[in-house]
Order: sequence, then structure tokens, then C-alpha cells
Amino acid sequence: MDQEPLTKKQRQVLDAFEREGKPLTVYQAWTAAGVDTVGQATVYRAIARLEELGLLTPVEIHGALPMWETKSLGHHHHFFCTACHEIYDLPGCLGNIDSILPKGFSMANHSITIYGNCATCRDRSL
Ligand SMILES: [Zn+2]
Ligand SMILES: [Zn+2]
Repeated sequence: MDQEPLTKKQRQVLDAFEREGKPLTVYQAWTAAGVDTVGQATVYRAIARLEELGLLTPVEIHGALPMWETKSLGHHHHFFCTACHEIYDLPGCLGNIDSILPKGFSMANHSITIYGNCATCRDRSL
């Protein structure tokens, strides 16, 4: 099946995600892509299309705005600081996650977010 090539704007948005290398909200992606060169609605549509194509993965974190990150970062988990609302990538996986599944169940994928305080916010509250 032929795949439509990315438009210039879609490429520009994807490049912004690649450059930042972390989860971005629509607004952050727009800022990174260049607010002078592309409209926010275009960024929104580009993100939807890039997600459809499997180039961006949605990052859903309770208490945070919807975000996306590039598939090229590979499988990893997230840490959400509930004080400063910063999101940190935790490299790698715990492995063996399917060992907690009931017998006969199969896992398609998983996402893990750890909630807590980053080192800076933790020091501040001590
Ligand atoms: Zn923090
Ligand atoms: Zn994992």
C-alpha cells in the first residue's frame, strides 16, 4: 500500500518532536516548530496525522495535558512530578511485566507512569 508522503508542515512538526526528544503538548510542539511559520491548528492536525502514521505516540498522564512523543525514542516509562508538572523519561523497561497477568491472558502493550516529586521539588519540601 502506498503511503502519502509527509507534507512540509507535518515534517516540520515531526522534526520539532525529534529535536526536543521528550513529550510535548500541542502548544509546546507549536513553539518548538516555530509559531511564525506554522499555525496552531496546522500543528494539531499534523500531530493527529503523525499519530495515525505511527510516528508519534500519545503520552497520557493523569493531571497533565495530552502529549505526544516520537516513536523513535523506543519503549520507556515516564515520571510525572506532581509539584512542578515536569515529565521525565525513565529509560528502559522493568521487564517481565507479563508475569503479573492472569493465566491465559496476553499483553499487547503497556504504559507506566510513576507519580511523585522530582529531586528539586522534593528538596524544596523538606
Ligand atoms: Zn518537580
Ligand atoms: Zn515497559
